[in-house]
Amino acid sequence: MSFMHYNNKIALVDCNSFYVSCERLFNPSINKKPVIVLSSNDGCVISRSTEAKNLGIKMGEPYFKVKKTVKENDVSVFSTNFALYGDISRRVMETLKQFSPQMEIYSIDEAFLDLSSIKNEDLLEHGYKIRKTILKWTGIPTSIGIGTTKTLSKAANYIAKKEKSGVVDLVNSKKINELLSRIKINDVWGVGKQLTKFYIRNGINTAYDLKKIHNNWIKKNTNVFGSRTAMELRGHPCVSLEPYEEKRKNCCVSRSFGKKVTNLEDLNEAITTHCLNATQKIRLDKQTVKKITVFIRTSPFQMKSNYYANSKNIDLPIRTNDSIVIIKQALSALKSIYKKGYRYQKTGIILSGLKDADIYNKNLFSTINNDEKRIKLMKAIDHTNIKYGNNALSIAQARLKKRRNTKKQYSSKINTACFDFLPTVKIA
Ligand SMILES: [Mg+2]
Repeated sequence: MSFMHYNNKIALVDCNSFYVSCERLFNPSINKKPVIVLSSNDGCVISRSTEAKNLGIKMGEPYFKVKKTVKENDVSVFSTNFALYGDISRRVMETLKQFSPQMEIYSIDEAFLDLSSIKNEDLLEHGYKIRKTILKWTGIPTSIGIGTTKTLSKAANYIAKKEKSGVVDLVNSKKINELLSRIKINDVWGVGKQLTKFYIRNGINTAYDLKKIHNNWIKKNTNVFGSRTAMELRGHPCVSLEPYEEKRKNCCVSRSFGKKVTNLEDLNEAITTHCLNATQKIRLDKQTVKKITVFIRTSPFQMKSNYYANSKNIDLPIRTNDSIVIIKQALSALKSIYKKGYRYQKTGIILSGLKDADIYNKNLFSTINNDEKRIKLMKAIDHTNIKYGNNALSIAQARLKKRRNTKKQYSSKINTACFDFLPTVKIA
């Protein structure tokens, strides 16, 4: 599906220093202070607060190179906590969805929104509203750029990052050329290292230079991406919004145990948690399931005699996305394949044959009233979990033990999926 018409209005919403902002949510003492987040294994800098940027710490720089600056300036350092960032990202995207019928999630902290239905004169105000709502509901600061093409919305966002208001609208701007001339060519969306070198050699130093260059020259000297970017800077949409997430056909949730598991109760607990996570996912996509697969296995590196792996499929009589029904079925399947005396390393479930919930068949044997009650219960669980973090509301079987497999030296260890990490409020 493409939206190649000429009254395009596209917003790019980008979270500011996203990983740092996530850490700050649970640690207000690092607000307004220099903060960095390191890549896995604490290798390089992958997120910096404005204060850290001002100290000259570069994106992607190896940690050992900035250690001195960190020490001298009392910079707070965090290891990645992707469980946290993923969860906060989901909340930001869920909040964004209400502002546009068409949205493309571009990365963990960026999304394009189709704002074509908003009147030109209301665009800026709409941008402020989006920004305010995201900040209020999730605590994450954002920058918003609005333009008639994706490339222009990216450019607007680049400028918005430096503006106090946080929102820049190029659709109504009379200063568009002046603003574009403030963006260096290497900061233009879609212009990579090689193309940058080539452009600079040819006197194209800014976004505005690229915009005004003759089309024939671009076509002759660059590839299709080069001319596409130039066209987009002139306001001719060439890159369409891709709002339709292909709905999943399967949903697999599995996990390896940090410590091997031998008894059925522990496996029951893991399968229950997997079922809860999987059913919540499919309910959010308004899908139902027809088939459940449960699998268990010991470590494949175990000696042959001690290796065991098995799985069981269950065809459900009726489609459902009811956690309780799915857990019941999965646990009975698990019971039938569980064997005593093995040290299990991994267990998981696969929900397959997923389809839209609209074609929901009512169970002939249950009263409609009962079904509706159950649907309401599931909705309440999902709503609470979105609002207060995953697994805030759960089912007694899933005891949600804390098992941490990886060590990260500077991890904030914040887990929004866990009650233990709810912030305490002190009243003076
Ligand atoms: Mg960002």
